[in-house]
Amino acid sequence: MAVKLPLFPTSVVGSFPRPSWLTRALRDLRAGRISPDEFEEYLDDAVIATIKEEEAAGLDVITDGEQRRLSFFFAELFDGMEYKPLYQLAETPEARGYLESLGIHRGIYHPVATSHLRLRLERVEREAGFALKYSSKPLKFTLPSPYMLMIDSWNKKLTSDYYPTPEDLGFEVARLLNKAVRRLAEMGVFFIQLDDPSLSNPIDPKYYRLVELVNGYKPRQPINEELSLAVELVNEAVRGVSGVKLGVHVCRGNWPGPEEALPRGGYERIMPYLNQLRVDQLVLEFATPRAGSLEVLGMAEKEVGLGVVDVKRPEVESPEQVAGRAKEALKYLDPGRLWLNPDCGFASGATWPVQPRRRSFEKVRAMVEAAWILRREYEGRA
Ligand SMILES: [Zn+2]
Repeated sequence: MAVKLPLFPTSVVGSFPRPSWLTRALRDLRAGRISPDEFEEYLDDAVIATIKEEEAAGLDVITDGEQRRLSFFFAELFDGMEYKPLYQLAETPEARGYLESLGIHRGIYHPVATSHLRLRLERVEREAGFALKYSSKPLKFTLPSPYMLMIDSWNKKLTSDYYPTPEDLGFEVARLLNKAVRRLAEMGVFFIQLDDPSLSNPIDPKYYRLVELVNGYKPRQPINEELSLAVELVNEAVRGVSGVKLGVHVCRGNWPGPEEALPRGGYERIMPYLNQLRVDQLVLEFATPRAGSLEVLGMAEKEVGLGVVDVKRPEVESPEQVAGRAKEALKYLDPGRLWLNPDCGFASGATWPVQPRRRSFEKVRAMVEAAWILRREYEGRA
């Protein structure tokens, strides 16, 4: 697709809240009240509704809202990986107490590798093929990053018979993801984004503690070695891919817990590693004060998808407020390298949205109107 984007393109990180009738249908499916075929029809309709909402909001690059996935971990992508309730994986009172201290929801499902993995390429083809058919805007398709899946889905007890070490699993995931990325590029997807909140763990090790308690995973020390491994894995997943825009999304996690329980800290520590990723764009949260100073953008060597809308706060930002945040970033970045995004998805899991659906739309709309303000001011100057 030959795409000409305006200055300050607007997009979303990925997920959008599921319509209430879709979550009801999911309950009906699990209870055996509707058939998988009938559920598929609900999913198709939810994708169409989301695509049309995103187009109506005026976004330049859209997603399908990840309507078909149980969560952004996208364990459905692999045979041999399954979802289990996180609290079930947390076997000790210490582990469960730790999840509670982070404000983690009881309904959160976690991916676990429980066998040798096989990529369900047909699932990617169906998801992307459907969204491409129903959208008139360039499509962003999100995939989990291999580093994130390594630390989240390698479980000492359940995985080590198949993948003795986390790296064995991580490199297998990266190799399989590479096939998915190549296929998506061939299909005409405009932007492929790998989601990697785990790349922020060296900033605040709260989540490393979680995967240590739940999975028995321990990061390499010194932590620079862990960061190098993360870079190697992501680069393996995008190796040899061209003709598509590639991005990596980094945030500090997006579960609907209290602000004070969530990780915090600026990108300074990890930016030299983010610059080594073989991708075009870094999609970074910045609207939340937990993400630290914008000054670090002076170190960024790539395009930046700037988080200008806080997905966790209920207040809907005004377009002027959003434009103001973008202007702050323009002190450190050329206008041609700046995209506008919300900080993260609005519903990283089907059953744990961080905002209601209508409010998510209003937040996205404020961002689109902010882009109009910025274009009036900067077009012709860039
Ligand atoms: Zn995120």
